[in-house]
Amino acid sequence: MLSIIVALDAKSEKDALNLTASLDPKLCRVKVGKELFTYEGPQIVKKLHQEGFEVFLDLKFHDIPNTTAQAVCAAADLGVWMVNVHASGGCKMMETCAERLKLGNYNTQLIAVTVLTSMEQSDLQEVGLNYNPEEQVLRLAKLTQDCGLDGIVCSAQEAKVLRQELGQNFSLITPGIRPIGSNLDDQKRIVTPAQAIKNGSTHLVIGRPITKAENPKKMLFDILQTLK
Ligand code: C5P
Repeated sequence: MLSIIVALDAKSEKDALNLTASLDPKLCRVKVGKELFTYEGPQIVKKLHQEGFEVFLDLKFHDIPNTTAQAVCAAADLGVWMVNVHASGGCKMMETCAERLKLGNYNTQLIAVTVLTSMEQSDLQEVGLNYNPEEQVLRLAKLTQDCGLDGIVCSAQEAKVLRQELGQNFSLITPGIRPIGSNLDDQKRIVTPAQAIKNGSTHLVIGRPITKAENPKKMLFDILQTLK
């Protein structure tokens, strides 16, 4: 399935299910983030599963290896399709997570966040990293791959270089997607859906262009048409 992941950036179950009411689970997956999960708990994931959606649980775990791996396996026990951790938690943490998923025979995809796109060079310097963000993204992307994870979250603008460096068998999950003519909202470095796929993205995370559209179903359909 060509993967569009609709970001359910809502707080309550009611609002989240309002967003999914007009979406077809055969045409997209959904992303549940920290706000919705913290407020509604695992019940929201179960509800979305009942509606037929595959869920990317975007909780960006980051802790000591055992704790992180237990959290990742708890997410896998919930049956989520994808879960993520912070690559900056290091190789031992990521490897432990990947190994435990394997040991448990889970199918859940495990990906990592490299450098948050909200961080610039000066922010990295503040935490003692004297690298530019692109260098650090590439370092952590390679580390993620070496640790046996399935992919990373990255900007679709970085996807081209990352695809070249990381080869074909690695998922690139890219937010910051805007179809031609849609509102930028607070996103700065945006890429169209078709260009993102061209750059090597495998999964497009799209929120407001779909969830705030007058007709979300049609918007999703139109975006999919541009990818054919
Ligand atoms: O509404 P929009 O399409 O901008 O939503 C993008 C989604 O992807 C949001 O859930 C946002 O938090 C997430 N995201 C992002 N940029 C990142 C990582 C995650 O926009 N670097």
